[in-house]
Amino acid sequence: MKLSELHLKTLREAPKDEVSQSTILLLRARFIEKLGAGVYNYLPFGLRTLNKISNIIREEMEKIGAFEVLMASLHPRQKWEITQRWGSFDALFKVQSRSEQEFALGPTHEEIITPLAANFISSYKDLPLYLFQIQTKFRDEPRPKSGILRGREFLMKDLYSFHASAEDLAVFYEKMKKVYVRIFKRLGLRVLITEGSGGTFSAGYSHEFQTPVTSGEDTVLVCPQCSFARNQEVAVKIVNCPRCGAPLEEIKCAEVGNIFQLGHKYSQPFDLVFIDKDGEKKWVEMGCYGIGVSRLLGVIGEVYHDEFGFTWPLAVAPFKYQLITLTSGNPSINKKIKKTAEDLYRALLKNNEEVLYDDRDISAGEKFKDADLIGAPWRLVVSEKALNQGALELKKRNKKTSQLIKLKKFVKILSSKKDNG
Ligand code: ATP
Ligand code: MG
Repeated sequence: MKLSELHLKTLREAPKDEVSQSTILLLRARFIEKLGAGVYNYLPFGLRTLNKISNIIREEMEKIGAFEVLMASLHPRQKWEITQRWGSFDALFKVQSRSEQEFALGPTHEEIITPLAANFISSYKDLPLYLFQIQTKFRDEPRPKSGILRGREFLMKDLYSFHASAEDLAVFYEKMKKVYVRIFKRLGLRVLITEGSGGTFSAGYSHEFQTPVTSGEDTVLVCPQCSFARNQEVAVKIVNCPRCGAPLEEIKCAEVGNIFQLGHKYSQPFDLVFIDKDGEKKWVEMGCYGIGVSRLLGVIGEVYHDEFGFTWPLAVAPFKYQLITLTSGNPSINKKIKKTAEDLYRALLKNNEEVLYDDRDISAGEKFKDADLIGAPWRLVVSEKALNQGALELKKRNKKTSQLIKLKKFVKILSSKKDNG
């Protein structure tokens, strides 16, 4: 991708109406654009990172045997009446058609997936079943002040599991905890697993996955001695660890995922049943497992940035390389610089490397500033100084110093795929 073809200028100034550091940087680096409180457009760089986050989650969902679906966002009122959440789900956005039919804009999909699952399930032989989607959700959040961390419209991964017994649900639930830890690890995030209240969703059991970030909305009480963690919001405030007695620490966190054992909470009102081995009709046991995909863009950005911009982990970086040309006063040298950079750009593309090529006619200082802001893990500079040695300047985003590498060697490494990042 060539920056000269994108015609999108980064912003030097922080927007005045945002407080979340990651959202400010995402806006300045032009990953996103704000449309209104809690509503954002995703621009090319932001969408690339968002897609990487989605794809890591998707891979892990498919590994455990889940099938991807895409459910509607426009939910007929009657579905939400069945669970009595039309009146009780505070954040429900409601819309009317011209013929005065009422709909909710889906904030979550239990009301849709439960009747949908009846297409798949009639006997115990059809269980377990795992369905997930990665989809836009709508919630009328009262105070969407945390930028992209709390949208009124946001991207979520929601997985729903269907089981013949509570035991099978419990086993899968424990497995999902491990899958979630693996997903967040791949995304470069540390998570604390807290016991949640369950809120409006649960029949009993739930856990939250919380990433420590200073701008986080949640306060988590963490035991420094054992693995105990609890969201303070939901619990009577405790001072000492109920497991080992050590004094608890308070850590600001952002909730990146939430899992629930729903039991019959939704299968009962929708009468989602199966015939068991003994010929008996039973309600399906359900679980649901959410991850805040667009919130993750913000949370990863909170963790991975410095005063100059993002320091994305390779797994989610919009590009691995940002290639920069430094022009000199001499036109014939400039020509050589340009030719070298073009050749290198093509070599990178040929080897399926993700590269953002800054070929704009602007100062070196501006290019470096933008590279730091956008935050590709590697910066490649073609300059007169380096070219004189047949070399290229290579710098890691999170390191202070750069190194020279012979151009030939770099291209050779690329094509032999020995490069591990
Ligand atoms: P929260 O406690 O942050 O309000 P929640 O418990 O209501 O979230 P769930 O309904 O379990 O969230 O949704 C699954 C995941 O979706 C959450 O763990 C969170 O990461 C993300 N999420 C929830 N609400 C929002 C929002 N308004 N904007 C962005 N992400 C969100
Ligand atoms: Mg929550």
